[in-house]
Amino acid sequence: MLYLDTRDKNFKVDFKSAVMGGMNAATGGLYVPESFPKIEFEKFSENPDFRKVAFEMISPYVGDEIPESDLRRLIDDAYPFDPRLEKIDDKSYVLELFHGPTCAFKDFGARFMARAMSYFNRGSEGRLHILVATSGDTGSAVGSAFHNVEGLDVTILYPEGKISPLQEKQLSTFTGNVRALRVKGTFDDCQKLVKTAFTDSSLRSKFRLSSANSINISRLLPQSFYYAHAALQARRENPGKKIIAVVPSGNFGNLTSGLIAREMGAPIEGFVATTNSNHTIPDWIATSKYEPRPSVETFANAMDVGAPSNYERISYMYSLEEVRKLFASFWLDNDGIISAIRECHEKCSYTIDPHGAVAYKAWQEIVAGGLSKISRDADIKKPGLTPNIPDWADCVSDCVGMILETASPAKFGQTVKLATGKEPALPERLERVMALPDNSVPMENDYGKFRAWLEENLR
Ligand SMILES: *Cc1c(COP(=O)(O)O)cnc(C)c1O
Repeated sequence: MLYLDTRDKNFKVDFKSAVMGGMNAATGGLYVPESFPKIEFEKFSENPDFRKVAFEMISPYVGDEIPESDLRRLIDDAYPFDPRLEKIDDKSYVLELFHGPTCAFKDFGARFMARAMSYFNRGSEGRLHILVATSGDTGSAVGSAFHNVEGLDVTILYPEGKISPLQEKQLSTFTGNVRALRVKGTFDDCQKLVKTAFTDSSLRSKFRLSSANSINISRLLPQSFYYAHAALQARRENPGKKIIAVVPSGNFGNLTSGLIAREMGAPIEGFVATTNSNHTIPDWIATSKYEPRPSVETFANAMDVGAPSNYERISYMYSLEEVRKLFASFWLDNDGIISAIRECHEKCSYTIDPHGAVAYKAWQEIVAGGLSKISRDADIKKPGLTPNIPDWADCVSDCVGMILETASPAKFGQTVKLATGKEPALPERLERVMALPDNSVPMENDYGKFRAWLEENLR
């Protein structure tokens, strides 16, 4: 399989180069597979193992660049946990994606990427150093995914005092090949330190540096596995019904993975793109104007993205007209998030996290006939469904919704408590992390000091 650059159609790379390079720095473009091979999903047994589906779906994208037996081992090693599909009412499922080590869906992408990078780094000239700036969520998934993975080291930079205590524990308690620097500055300062290191040619002549951010195609492809796996189950349980995936979105990587699953033949009829008050994409769908903006802070903070990076891929893969046929879209402000968590708790006895709550509310409004009540000139500055009617709108009564639950509600205990009066219990693996000693290293917001630390500490 070759991967095309979204900005230069003559530029093509193999899987290894796409994984190791992340993006085409020369054009600023992202990689997209040149085709989306169809899988015969019918051939799977009644209740297929997640790893079997994963292997079938990833194989065409890897081609002969990783031999079959190694690829099977890589998949098995990446996924010692499963996604879980829970029915919460007649028309709705929650797809729980938080049963991995860091209790958020990013484990699915990050764990595959770490192992693919390690595989391709084998037998090369020494260790590969991953630098990653994080505002909380990505760092823990990446740190955990790369922890003890052969040949790779990770340095995580995070803004001191600006992430939650649980998030900080999840970043700072690694030992061995994953280290965390707590930077006296903001997330933007952390990102700037990392970017400066990447453009420092004398540093790069000493160390092999790479990034691990969400634009890497090797984080998106594996997220398509759970869409297909869950859609097969939902279809089996609801013969004759159509399946709509409802996706809480920030950078729209997760939703792009759903599009990939659908292209490959997974039984998904359409999507609901849902966001918090950072509603750049719903506005684009409503107005045809794509206007990236500074992000605003919300309770669903992993979706606080004003310039979603995968707009680049979505608008490369589809015209706006196609997007409008496929997507409903919806957004919710903070008050709406709290009442959605409460409503889900009261009506379905299900404790949902602030991100999943946005998707829950969107699907409830659609089931209640929301799409048929939309007025074309609705005010897009007000939360709710965006004035756009997808192709599947007239058969909502024949649809079931698959609400993607991207994090464990326990990671957002304070917000959940505001809504339900009760803080969810921490899963055991988070409790264990809370008890570990903090190994983070203090770092000034100063490139010279950061560079000196790297020179002293990288192997
Ligand atoms: C990262 C994240 C999201 C947003 O995912 P995108 O792929 O960036 O759209 C949603 N929820 C949680 C909990 C996340 O960590």
